[in-house]
Amino acid sequence: MKSRIVIIGAGYAGILTAKKLAKKFKKNDNVSIKIIDKNPFHTMLTELHEVAANRVDEESIKIGLKKVFAGRKVDVVLDTIESIDFKNKVAIGANQKYEYDYLVLAAGSKPTYFGVPGAEEYAYKLWSYEDAVKLRDHIQNVFRKAACETNLEEKKRMLSFYVVGAGFTGVEMVGELAEYVPILCDKHEIDRELVTIYNVDILKRTVPNLPEKISNKVEKRLKKMGVKLMLNSGVCRIGPDFIEVNANDTCSRYSVGTVIWAAGIESSDITNEAAKTLQSANRGRIKLDSFLRSVDDDRVYVVGDNMLYTAEGEDRPVPQMVENCEQSSAIAAKNIYCAITGNGEMTVYKPSFHGMMVCIGGRYGVARVGFPKRMINLPSFLAMFVKHFINIIYFVQVLGWNKVFSYLKHEFFTIRNCRSFVGGHFSNRTPSFLTVPLRIWLGVAWLFEGIMKVVEGWFESPKLTAFFGGAESWYNSILYGSTGALEGTSGATAVQTATEAVSSATGEAAQEVAASVGTTILNFDFLGLFRLIFVSGKELSKSVIGDYAFKIDMPLMNWFTNELILPSDGVQIFMQGFIVIAEILIGLALIGGLFTTPAAAFSLVLQAMFVCTTGLYLSTFWMIFAAIAVLIGAGRTFGLDYYVMPYLKNLWRRLPFVRRLYIYND
Ligand SMILES: Cc1cc2nc3c(=O)[nH]c(=O)nc-3n(C[C@H](O)[C@H](O)[C@H](O)COP(=O)(O)OP(=O)(O)OC[C@H]3O[C@@H](n4cnc5c(N)ncnc54)[C@H](O)[C@@H]3O)c2cc1C
Repeated sequence: MKSRIVIIGAGYAGILTAKKLAKKFKKNDNVSIKIIDKNPFHTMLTELHEVAANRVDEESIKIGLKKVFAGRKVDVVLDTIESIDFKNKVAIGANQKYEYDYLVLAAGSKPTYFGVPGAEEYAYKLWSYEDAVKLRDHIQNVFRKAACETNLEEKKRMLSFYVVGAGFTGVEMVGELAEYVPILCDKHEIDRELVTIYNVDILKRTVPNLPEKISNKVEKRLKKMGVKLMLNSGVCRIGPDFIEVNANDTCSRYSVGTVIWAAGIESSDITNEAAKTLQSANRGRIKLDSFLRSVDDDRVYVVGDNMLYTAEGEDRPVPQMVENCEQSSAIAAKNIYCAITGNGEMTVYKPSFHGMMVCIGGRYGVARVGFPKRMINLPSFLAMFVKHFINIIYFVQVLGWNKVFSYLKHEFFTIRNCRSFVGGHFSNRTPSFLTVPLRIWLGVAWLFEGIMKVVEGWFESPKLTAFFGGAESWYNSILYGSTGALEGTSGATAVQTATEAVSSATGEAAQEVAASVGTTILNFDFLGLFRLIFVSGKELSKSVIGDYAFKIDMPLMNWFTNELILPSDGVQIFMQGFIVIAEILIGLALIGGLFTTPAAAFSLVLQAMFVCTTGLYLSTFWMIFAAIAVLIGAGRTFGLDYYVMPYLKNLWRRLPFVRRLYIYND
């Protein structure tokens, strides 16, 4: 009989569990896997504050579930599960009922309000895609309206923000808001002094899960950004235009424009519902055994935020964090596999967490990372680097390199207002049509070079022995003061051939070089693996840029040319033909703007080959940089790709293996 696995929730934990199960049961037709979510997409909750404060576009934090599971043995279902009949093993959704043999509960969390009157009604929350978009729109509207408000007191009220909660979510939200406010003030011509931002928490310090030293850094940074901290202060009531805060046993009322609630979480509705049948604690988290099954029902596995599990030797339950989702999903998938197939032993969940990172706006972060018994605090730059790196590792698992590229794009290459830890250094863009001449000029240079080689007889007789040998003797004459001339080649001819060789790749005119007056600038051997050679063919005082040549001398490459190419005339002529045809095709492709990406990539490959064999004059280095620019999109307009690529991309994306491996660009 078929075993049916039903996963409720396609968040971090649900998705990874489903992917791991799909891999394990790839060839087993007796197992079906269904993942049910109320949204057709996965939301990257860890970036919600970036959307709420308009650092990144809302679309960038969504990943379509159909894309994630394309070509995999996972059935994606759009439904909201409203209750679970554990006795009869049925998950009951708004649209349908789902029978299961194994259930994975991965429905995540929702904000909890601790019974504070008015909190749920009047505060904005931040625990879903919709929450983030709604909050961003609200913040923008507030500034739009405040700009037209003439009553100063009302204007100040509108522009006062209270973020409740100084844990990770609260601090990240308030930091992001503080970074966004000056941009909005500038846009709407509002005096920054009129805007107030408070971060309120009942505890005495921010991010209490981290050491005090880090809390101090966070507080210092927030203050620098204009955030006022109200610690040791509990919120007792929230109204449509006020917040009441209790500090030192005195409850004070403040007029307020916006309250954002980030003070705590509980399990999502369906998990709370399940908690009525299964043992639970800590606001609806399900009690588990060491194999991640409910202590009451061994057909129910729980992963991610919904778990209540204290690992051996620990005194606190696992944290509600992404790393716990990643690790618990692997163990749950493995144990379900064992339970269904009877193969192998079930594995006890022994998580090992590697730290925490908190960003305060796009430019500053704190982190404590390492191994459980050896943690270190990182400086801001590294903390931000690590945070992005960890996100990338997660994206590779979920949507391959496709998502990694789109993440890098929205976090760095298209970031607004320089809001990244490397500022706006990667985000300044040049309109593509302005670089069309660069693309065409690069193409012309390659075409010219290819045609010149045809004229010189590269299709007719072997030339490479004299070519490579000449280049070598030219470098030797400068580096060691001897020509080391080729067999059967006079010193003068060798120098002449060498000059042509070094310049040949790019059409640089052959120059009269006196070997004896050349200058060595760099001759550095790296552990015998390669040698960096940088020379001028003349005395430095008389050198122009075209006299400088750079070469990476690699023993492996030398062996390849000396042993496999040069000994045979036939191989030489074949290689010559290959190079000439490649140069002409690259040239034509770049001029016509057709298949620009592979042409630019191949252009780089040829340049790399030349640098490692004959070396190149610096005056032709522009071709390397131009090829890099074209490769990543420069000069893409006014070419045939504009018409051909959308069609080809469409065909490409329809191929099953392409969708399965995520090798397309969104
Ligand atoms: C602003 C913010 C910043 C954060 N920053 C960090 C951070 O820097 N590092 C970190 O480790 N953690 C961070 N977290 C916490 C982290 O996001 C959570 O621990 C993680 O999302 C939990 O994953 P999960 O799979 O258990 O649940 P979720 O990711 O919440 O996924 C649950 C899924 O279940 C679905 N679902 C819920 N109910 C139903 C239902 N009845 N029927 C069908 N589907 C349902 C939901 O739609 C959702 O897709 C942050 C959270 C927020 C909100």
